[in-house]
Amino acid sequence: MEDRFYTQERGLLDIENENKLRPQTLSDYIGQERIKGAIEVFMRAALSRGEPVDHILLYGPPGLGKTSLANIIANEMGVNIRTTSGPAIEAAADLAAILTNLNKGDVLFIDEIHRLARPCEEILYSAMEDFSLDMVLGKGPSARTMRLKIEPFTLIGATTRAGRISAPLRDRFGIINRLEMYEVPELEKIISRSANILDVDIEKDALHEMARRSRGTPRIANRILKRVRDFAQVKALDIKVQNMNAGNSRHIVDSAKIIISIQDCKKTFEVLQIDDLGLDWVDKSILLAIIEKFGGGPVGLETLAATTGEDAVTIEDIVEPYLLQLGYIAKTPRGRIATELAYDAMGKVKPEN
Ligand code: ADP
Repeated sequence: MEDRFYTQERGLLDIENENKLRPQTLSDYIGQERIKGAIEVFMRAALSRGEPVDHILLYGPPGLGKTSLANIIANEMGVNIRTTSGPAIEAAADLAAILTNLNKGDVLFIDEIHRLARPCEEILYSAMEDFSLDMVLGKGPSARTMRLKIEPFTLIGATTRAGRISAPLRDRFGIINRLEMYEVPELEKIISRSANILDVDIEKDALHEMARRSRGTPRIANRILKRVRDFAQVKALDIKVQNMNAGNSRHIVDSAKIIISIQDCKKTFEVLQIDDLGLDWVDKSILLAIIEKFGGGPVGLETLAATTGEDAVTIEDIVEPYLLQLGYIAKTPRGRIATELAYDAMGKVKPEN
């Protein structure tokens, strides 16, 4: 799943950068203490038994660290990871080929596992349960079923929609964990770590501003860092040119390291139209639609999508989790409602009931 921020520029370079910033060990992985603690115990127990870790389902909004955690588990267990995604596996035979190629203890990571086609999902049942594949050979009355053994492995499934996973698949995961949005101090640590890797310095107040506007999401925090760095880099280049023109020594010219200041942040947020809390115009248009067009709600997801021109999946996966976290909207059986906080934030007065 993709964040809506800067999607258009998510080329090869961005993917490379994302891998560069990905934590490699549990100690590098910031926050999510409850999950980390539990996974550490499961890994140690599995290692002492010489078995793979039980299958793990990770769910939560995009960018919270599901892929990173899967990579860390493989890394810490000293095994290979094979990464794929639900929509990428077209036929059951493709999944069977992946499964038969796994080595003992390997991790198979399936992102967006809720989008796995039914026949593929069915292959997973026996693979997860007793490390075997039930293959149907031939067609019609002469068809035979053959059971093929595969190496024991760990399936790590990631999804933004735990509710969309069928009960038989969900029941086969031994460990099911929901990733939570990150607090500002955790995001500050994540941004500092990334800045270190990218070799830029950040002033303290700038770090806090970036963390505050990251919507509780490490991927967004890293992207904000990269965009603010662009502004700071251009500034550093200007200083370099000035120093050169002033005839300063090579030492001074080269020492113009990138230091991110609060001014760089402010400029970037202005250009990207991100407000104090990390809300952008999409969030605002959704809040305003609930308030102005539906009298504060309740309004159903599809109606909201049609009114705002936003995709329902984007609203549900990316916009809503943060608005819910801020307490700006609430979900009721009849739809979404805007809370008093949302009225205040949008400069509107909530009508008396
Ligand atoms: P998801 O799979 O949930 O969409 P990712 O694991 O791809 O999220 O995380 C996106 C990026 O955010 C990673 O490249 C990594 O740099 C950063 N990140 C995510 N979680 C953490 C964390 N707990 N600590 C440090 N960095 C993180």
